[in-house]
Amino acid sequence: MKLTICHLYGNLMNTYGDNGNLLMLQHRGKKMGLDVETVLVSIGDKFEPNQYDIVFFGGGQDYEQSIVSQDLQTKKEDLTHYIENNGVVLGICGGFQLLGHYYINAAGQRLEGIGAIDYYTLNQVNNRYIGDIEIHNDDVNETYLGYENHNGRTFLGPTVAPLGRVVNGFGNNNEDKTEGARYKNVFCSYFHGPLLVRNQHLADRIIQTAIKRKDRQ
Ligand code: GLN
Repeated sequence: MKLTICHLYGNLMNTYGDNGNLLMLQHRGKKMGLDVETVLVSIGDKFEPNQYDIVFFGGGQDYEQSIVSQDLQTKKEDLTHYIENNGVVLGICGGFQLLGHYYINAAGQRLEGIGAIDYYTLNQVNNRYIGDIEIHNDDVNETYLGYENHNGRTFLGPTVAPLGRVVNGFGNNNEDKTEGARYKNVFCSYFHGPLLVRNQHLADRIIQTAIKRKDRQ
């Protein structure tokens, strides 16, 4: 079976080694006997919602995010369609933020997201959430370990579950003990490290979710 991964804005959104997530998806996919292909989709490219099995959207600094936020509006409809159609997405940090309604950056500027998932992200003054983090996903009884470094404070709407409950660290906003987001087949997190390299069980879960969806199509 072939697994096609879209690396969304991979040439702009790749802080703290986020590309390691892509390497991990390729590595684990090959171990499962899959033929894994990766396609970069970036500024000015069309996102074809029926061409991909997994979309990976990594983290970025505020400057890159401001460029990506604008271009993303041209892909809004197709990406939303892909997500609503149970497409598998992994969004990390800056990518996570831009799948929601908006992100107020450290300078106080509002960067538009695509509002595909119900959350928004505020900034904080002269502070970042930095350090090792541990969360637990009570639904599937899994622990995930990582490293966070973000200014943004994300608040989830009622239709969105967190990726996990914060055991140690700051998480989405240092208030409600949530970290990341889960919606349909979308997995989002602030974790670098990178997330999937440190949490192989999550890499396998994401690939298996993509395989199941492909089987049903
Ligand atoms: N620029 C965003 C923030 O600081 C995202 C950072 C990241 O992707 N690591 O919140």
